[in-house]
Amino acid sequence: MTITIHRGINQIGGCITEIASSSGTKILIDLGHNLPEGDEPSEDKYEDSENLSALLDGVKAVFYTHPHGDHVGFETEVAKRGIDQYIGSLSKELMILLKGHLAYNGDPKFKAELEAFKKFRTFEAKKRIPIDDISITPYFVSHSAPDAYMFLIECDGKKVLHTGDFREHGYRGKGLIPTINSYIAHRKIDVLITEGTMLSRNDSRLMTENELKYNAIDIFRQHRNIFVMCSSMDADRLASFYQAAQAVGKMFVVDGFQWKVLETIGNTLGTKSILYRFPKRRYYENHMDTIRNAAQTNGFVSIVRNNVKSREFIEAIYPTLDPKETCFIYSQFLGYILPTHSAFQQRTYDFVHSREWQIEYLHTSGHASREALAMVCNKVNPRLAIIPIHREAESDFRSLDIPQELKDKVHTESTTLEGVKIIIK
Ligand SMILES: [Zn+2]
Repeated sequence: MTITIHRGINQIGGCITEIASSSGTKILIDLGHNLPEGDEPSEDKYEDSENLSALLDGVKAVFYTHPHGDHVGFETEVAKRGIDQYIGSLSKELMILLKGHLAYNGDPKFKAELEAFKKFRTFEAKKRIPIDDISITPYFVSHSAPDAYMFLIECDGKKVLHTGDFREHGYRGKGLIPTINSYIAHRKIDVLITEGTMLSRNDSRLMTENELKYNAIDIFRQHRNIFVMCSSMDADRLASFYQAAQAVGKMFVVDGFQWKVLETIGNTLGTKSILYRFPKRRYYENHMDTIRNAAQTNGFVSIVRNNVKSREFIEAIYPTLDPKETCFIYSQFLGYILPTHSAFQQRTYDFVHSREWQIEYLHTSGHASREALAMVCNKVNPRLAIIPIHREAESDFRSLDIPQELKDKVHTESTTLEGVKIIIK
């Protein structure tokens, strides 16, 4: 077996992992874009069709851990080459909703992406999928995308666990270690490929999503009307703010697209947990009078994004609000609005600071804490190697609280171990 880390050994986002069997079967895990730096998309060598063709040459299937843009991004090009693409079924549904929304005005790029997603095959947790002599079994993980997976890959008699992006402090993160204990640890993993986003970020304990909900309740109690900027696909975060709004009796307001996203999440995850049901949501396109009334009484919590719809809503409602009673919660990565940070986005900063409201920062990461990373390494206890990806170049996986024996197995350069060829580009 050959494991090739095409991208991701020294960067967060844009990770591409290839697994090839000795007989030549090849699959890829994740194929997304480099994360943007600042307001503009960053350069990506796979935008060049020749580079992408070389990467996809002989690839039988691409498996996506979850549909964030740094994990899925070349779906039209992959589909054009007749290669099968696999993702979780809720992810597929949400991406069809999103691309359909973006393609509404007939933009050919979004239309092509919509068609590509419609052809995606889906997998289910714990159901093994054979691709010739490689097999892939997905296991659910908690992340800031609601339908994310790690993969157990079996090839040439060896086993690889690819974690994708994951966390332990989300609502469903408590299932992480039991999943590893029940389905993975005893299968004797040879190679662990794991994310390490938080490796070089500080050591302090991360706020759980449940704690974030209680912090939101505190903020909601101090202000009459609240705008919240968060990811429109992060089911956990939306649930936190929805639950907090219910706890203090405020109207929960979204736009028409968000309304449909919450409906989809409610019809899927909501059938298993009341946490993911949003029955009392209103969309502002049709309920402006009711929202204006609410704004003068108990108040509202409105999910907004930096787009035309949200800006129009703010434009319409803000003049009727008292700025001293109005709050804007920024619930995303802080770097985007820190002028000194390399990820700083001027447009996001301007949006957040566009009114006289009070700004609050309330966020917790979608990625594994250092503690959770160490725990996964210890539990999986891989026989041959640990390959850290999705991490900052200067971060050191060996700085985790893991035994020396495991530290010695961390590989960030090409090597061959018991017939497993590891190529790191
Ligand atoms: Zn992600």
